[in-house]
Amino acid sequence: MTGPLDESRAWIAPTDRRVGILGGTFDPVHFGHLVAAEQVREALGLHRVLFVPAGAPPHKLGEEVTAADHRAAMVELAIAGNPSFVMSRIELERSGPSYTVDTLRTLADEAARQGVERDLYFILSAEALDGFGDWRDPTGILTRCRLAVVPRPGAPLPDRAWLAAHLPGGAAGAARVVCVETVPLAHSASDVRERAAAGRSIRYLVPPAVERYICDHRLYRSQNPSEDRPK
Ligand code: ATP
Repeated sequence: MTGPLDESRAWIAPTDRRVGILGGTFDPVHFGHLVAAEQVREALGLHRVLFVPAGAPPHKLGEEVTAADHRAAMVELAIAGNPSFVMSRIELERSGPSYTVDTLRTLADEAARQGVERDLYFILSAEALDGFGDWRDPTGILTRCRLAVVPRPGAPLPDRAWLAAHLPGGAAGAARVVCVETVPLAHSASDVRERAAAGRSIRYLVPPAVERYICDHRLYRSQNPSEDRPK
């Protein structure tokens, strides 16, 4: 039988004690994501970083999002060759909005089944952290993982006072956050989409294989990208 649990069992080995999770829409994945994941992996000594494309991103409900198969295929291409990076379809195979807390619960259950204590780090930018209070069950998220926050141009790393004032649990919530000084890259998926739509170059913004995929499948060019399917 295959499924999200079987898949993560195959990829997250029992020896993977420190695991990062980078959730996102990845529409498309770009070098900003990859640099953040790689530098957090290095800084925190993570054994694995799980890229988790959202099936139905809760903050983008009602917005047009490229078909999940395309977004996942691009993530696979982008992370190929880095043995520390794996992609999970956990949120693609779950119906309804992709809430992080549900994903963390599944991963925690999986660890329990494996009989391992696992430290989970959810990687997000300081920009995304700003809206964290609006996520589903932020307290539940903080009890199941730590947050690894990275800077993004326009969104520098927060200080402890900001964290204590904005996270559930105050100082205790702030203690669940680790800030990682990654190289800030101004890449954004919306910029890549806009450039591709205008027929402009996206070279050096995304990995070459992702650039080719976008070109081959004419992504971001059609009137309704959600109707695109991989050939
Ligand atoms: P869009 O432009 O469509 O909103 P995005 O580029 O922000 O997309 P997402 O897939 O939504 O990409 O991002 C997933 C996670 O990666 C979020 O926490 C986001 O803040 C973070 N992230 C995205 N781009 C960067 C970047 N250049 N530097 C650091 N973090 C980033």
